[in-house]
Amino acid sequence: MSFDTSFPPPPVATDDYCCPTCHGLLAQDTAAYFCNNCRKTFPIDFGIPDFRLEDDPYINIPDDRAKGARIVRECRDRSLAGLLQFYWSITENVEANRARQFVATVLRGGLRAESIVTWLQERKAIAGRDSCLEIGCGAGEMLPVLKRVWKNVTGVDRAYRWLVIAKLAAEHEGLNVRLVCANAEHLPFRSDSFDAVVADNVIEHQNDHSDQLAFARDALRVSSRQKGFFFLSTPNRFAPLPDPHFNIPLLGMLPRGSAKPMVQLLRGKAYEFIRLLSSHELKCIMDEAGATTITMVPAQFGRDLFALKSTASAYRALAKQKTFLMVCPVIWALASKDA
Ligand SMILES: [Zn+2]
Repeated sequence: MSFDTSFPPPPVATDDYCCPTCHGLLAQDTAAYFCNNCRKTFPIDFGIPDFRLEDDPYINIPDDRAKGARIVRECRDRSLAGLLQFYWSITENVEANRARQFVATVLRGGLRAESIVTWLQERKAIAGRDSCLEIGCGAGEMLPVLKRVWKNVTGVDRAYRWLVIAKLAAEHEGLNVRLVCANAEHLPFRSDSFDAVVADNVIEHQNDHSDQLAFARDALRVSSRQKGFFFLSTPNRFAPLPDPHFNIPLLGMLPRGSAKPMVQLLRGKAYEFIRLLSSHELKCIMDEAGATTITMVPAQFGRDLFALKSTASAYRALAKQKTFLMVCPVIWALASKDA
């Protein structure tokens, strides 16, 4: 990105933003934010500031922005379901069946958010109700539920095109949320900015251990010292079930080096941008990231997320067993740092 040193507006306090690289104050005009230290420009398009330092692994930044612009041009005044259908209709190399599954998963996000918020409320974990950040908000399907609890809700994602969908869906619903494009491990917010930081199915998509650690560290950094928290949800590597991304039984039990050729052999796909964690590995990452209190439990899904009532009852009985955490399908972790 170019930076015109003859026109560096002076740095000012711009909401709770800071530079994602140096954490310094930014300057702003109507079209962009600027960091004078790093000589970087961060454009604002369709009301969404773009603080990314790295490409989305699935699409480069210019193509991502072009796709977002196309959605804005061709797809206004639609519900989230309509926007998702349009998105998959213009996305190549995804079979119709798979696209339908993606849409269904996204549309169940509201139910997942209800389960999470109910559990946090039952634990009396929610102290401040002013601000919530969702990292990896995707199409924004969890934001309406978060907005019922927190006054100011911000959704961050590295995919601009998904944020455009989130913004159009929010406009359609009359929902006032802020959407920001950024990498999860380089958040453009000042430290201690949010009462709550939530990340559903994000950490397993960080490329390697060091990115997962950087992600956890930055999520804790921006969560408030004053009774703030960082909540995350992630599939369990050691769940004795088919792998959630490739539907291969017990894939997570294999050493990481063997899982890659296995996926290539059985599915003809590259096993990349996914690194599932066990409960022990997740605990180590949170410790290393600086969490001083950590609670980990099997996901406490609400009944609505189960097709059968009997399955819901059996799951809830299992979830009360301490050892179930090691093999449960999805782990929830609630962490905070010292005040
Ligand atoms: Zn900077």
